[in-house]
Amino acid sequence: MKKIVYTLKQHPRTNEYHLFEATPLENNECRPNKKSMCEMMENVNGFKFACRTEKEAFLKCAELGRQVCGNCMKELYSTDD
Ligand SMILES: [Zn+2]
Repeated sequence: MKKIVYTLKQHPRTNEYHLFEATPLENNECRPNKKSMCEMMENVNGFKFACRTEKEAFLKCAELGRQVCGNCMKELYSTDD
């Protein structure tokens, strides 16, 4: 199964953070999807954090609290298998 990592980006207008699923590449880099997990934000340059595992992403988003999009968090919860 393909491993997925997570990148958090700030929306340029609302300043809210959205999560992007990303495909790991070589050199600890990753390529984020074109849209956030909630599909409300397009990919932009820059990030708050990048290429984190699900658990790391969860913990970091918990620290940021309500600045993180609720719908993206819901999607992150539901990726548990
Ligand atoms: Zn979102």
